[in-house]
Amino acid sequence: MSDPSLDDVAPGDDAAVPTARWTADGVCDACEAVVSWRFRDDERYVCADCKEW
Ligand SMILES: [Zn+2]
Repeated sequence: MSDPSLDDVAPGDDAAVPTARWTADGVCDACEAVVSWRFRDDERYVCADCKEW
């Protein structure tokens, strides 16, 4: 721990939460439909039909 440059690494991964997520075989947290694109709805990821726009 003698290299001061290590302090340049900034914390805060929690700050950037994606609003949409692509997964090859994602499952909607609301209706359990299998969809590639899911959208963040609070703490869940739901399909476009379940997302409240
Ligand atoms: Zn759904």
